[in-house]
Amino acid sequence: MSSMELWYTEKQTENFGITMKINKTLVHEKTDFQELAMIETEEYGTMLVLDGMVMTTVRDEFVYHEMVAHPALFTHPNPEQVLVVGGGDGGVVREVLKHPQVKKVVLVDIDGKVIEYSKQYLPSIAGKLDDPRVQVLVNDGYMHIHEHKNTYDVIMVDSTEPVGPAVNLFTRGFYQGIYDALKEDGIFVAQTDNPWFKAELIQSVNRDVKEVFPIVRVYCANIPTYPSGLWTFTMGSKKYDPLAVNENDIPELDTKYYTPRLHKAAFVLPKFVEDLTK
Ligand code: SAM
Repeated sequence: MSSMELWYTEKQTENFGITMKINKTLVHEKTDFQELAMIETEEYGTMLVLDGMVMTTVRDEFVYHEMVAHPALFTHPNPEQVLVVGGGDGGVVREVLKHPQVKKVVLVDIDGKVIEYSKQYLPSIAGKLDDPRVQVLVNDGYMHIHEHKNTYDVIMVDSTEPVGPAVNLFTRGFYQGIYDALKEDGIFVAQTDNPWFKAELIQSVNRDVKEVFPIVRVYCANIPTYPSGLWTFTMGSKKYDPLAVNENDIPELDTKYYTPRLHKAAFVLPKFVEDLTK
């Protein structure tokens, strides 16, 4: 029996990272947009890595995907048309489909290989991408929103960090494009990284979104395999405030992290995070 151990390390800063014991690498290739790997880990199951950054793991993916999808979909009274920018692993789409009012969810990911390999190696996450309510497009999300004005009730940005193909997805122009692609009472939410290593990003996104949307809220969730484990999400809304939702009006869903009680609690921020949103 070999005593050799293989470990995958993600450098989250130049001086800090996480490391995981792995069994085998299922895929490792350069796509047209990024370096992609699917790795079987001991602790977290199969994991998608893009450009050296953990994207999602079978064991903890539910936190992120539920928290991208449900706060906005329970804040909007009738979310029928939903757009997911990025999200090629299919996890956010799976959560969106739990809402019966949703008539159509369009997924726009720039990299078809992410979709292809997620379907093959992450069936518990990507398994709903073939649902009849889902339209999958391989395209730049920045282009898509500028070509679809006044179309969506809710837009979710489940992109990689603001590097490589996602660099445009954290700009003021992108948020204006999102605003224009939303209907007159639309809601947008984006993953906005972690307050320990990306405080300036959270601040700049908050500033830019506040210049575009009348209602801006930030909420948090615990994601163990993401840098620092504390993750933020930024919501911009044209009309509905997530804090005005009555938790008694939120039905219990088949979830493992989001609950009607957690809907508002998630928006209560630790002081050092709250200070980034002022
Ligand atoms: N949950 C992860 C996170 O928070 O970093 C994101 C996972 S999801 C796999 C990220 C997706 O964003 C990738 O599949 C990538 O191809 C996609 N992406 C990056 N830039 C994009 C763009 N400009 N338009 C559409 N999709 C993009």
